[in-house]
Parts: sequence; structure tokens; C-alpha cells
Amino acid sequence: MPTDNDGIMIVLSSPSGAGKTTLVNLLSKLDNFEISISHTTRQPRINEEHSKDYYFVSEEKFKRLIKNQEFLEYAKVFNNYYGTTRTPVIDNLNKGKNVLFDIDWQGADQIKNKKLDYKLITFFILPPSKEILFERLSNRDMKDKLIVDERMKQFGRDVLHWINYDYVVINENLDKCYSKIYTLIEAEIKDGSKDYDLDYIRSHVDKLTT
Ligand code: 5GP
Repeated sequence: MPTDNDGIMIVLSSPSGAGKTTLVNLLSKLDNFEISISHTTRQPRINEEHSKDYYFVSEEKFKRLIKNQEFLEYAKVFNNYYGTTRTPVIDNLNKGKNVLFDIDWQGADQIKNKKLDYKLITFFILPPSKEILFERLSNRDMKDKLIVDERMKQFGRDVLHWINYDYVVINENLDKCYSKIYTLIEAEIKDGSKDYDLDYIRSHVDKLTT
């Protein structure tokens, strides 16, 4: 049964290349914050570890988890399945830990719609401009121009979901972006005033989509 001592759920989503994973890792260093480790059918990248970055599982195993209703949310992203199992999340929340989710907009929508009794704050991270996003994607492990082009097209579709999030934060500078998110989480926890300019975000999204 949820109580006031329970942890809160903090979702970070973003189009590919906006720097969300780095931000989630920084936030997880805070006292009492834990990252929810997802299951995925995608192949591990170099440097990724099973049960640290993801639980890497077969499609068969993933479908069994769906059938057994183990997922709080799951979605297909870029041809692979990704999902969050319910039990570790609820256990952590009940222990008073704040749980960080690095999940896409489909998962964020599903968690929102579950209307759990735990407090939920959702953040959508955006790049400062399309040009910088293109540079970031080109410098990544994606040497293939076709993949970069596909991710840029996907960006155009993903960005439209900004409106469903509590806060949109622009990642121009990692330290500033981190501080902004941290300040908003603190303000939400303490029910204090929030420094957030929705008109500015709206005009930034307009720039990114034209
Ligand atoms: P990547 O393959 O680059 O690690 O992740 C691809 C996308 O899947 C990212 O947007 C990431 O946030 C999202 N993702 C990772 N885990 C989950 C999950 O458990 N559920 C959902 N819905 N999306 C996830």
C-alpha cells in the first residue's frame, strides 16, 4: 500500500541523441535514486553489461514476460522490444527509493495511464537545435549516414510528444540541464514554486519542427 514515505517515479524521455542517458546516470548518483533496469531484445553494444545497462533477453523470453503480465510498460522501439518489469520498481518505491526511468514516449504514456499511487514526474529532453542533433548523431557509433538520416526523421516524429510531459528541458549544456532537472524535482518534492517557461519551450519546439 503506497504511503508518504514512498519514493517517486521520474521518467526521462527524449529523441535519440539528446543526451538523456548521461543525465539519467548523473541523477542516479544522488542519494536514494535508483535506475530502473529495462529488459530488451536488442543486442548489447560494446561496453554494455547484462543486468547493469539492460537485461538482454531473447524475443521468446520477452514475449513470455508480456504473457505473464510482468511489465509495468513495454514498447517496440527501432525494431526491438523494451520493457520495465513491475516488481523491482514497486519494491524500490516501497523502500522509499526514487526510481529513474530512461524510457521512450510510449512507455511514459503507459506509466502515466496506469495512475499508480506513487508520485510521477515526467521530463522530455530536447537538443538545442536540429544542426547540433545532426552533429551529435553523426559523431556517435553511427557512422552510417543512412542511420543518421533515419534518426533525424524519427526525431521529427518523436518531438511531437513533448506536450504529454510535465517538463521539457533543453540540453544545450549538460551541467545546466542537470541542474534544471534537479531543481524541478526538488521543487516538486517540496511542493515549491517551479521555474519553468512553457512559452519559451513552445517556441523552441516550433524552431525544431520547421
Ligand atoms: P537504446 O537502444 O538506444 O538503449 O534505447 C532506445 C530507446 O528505447 C531509448 O529512447 C530508450 O529510452 C528506450 N527504452 C529503453 N528502455 C525502455 C523501456 O524499458 N521501455 C520503453 N518504453 N522504452 C525504453
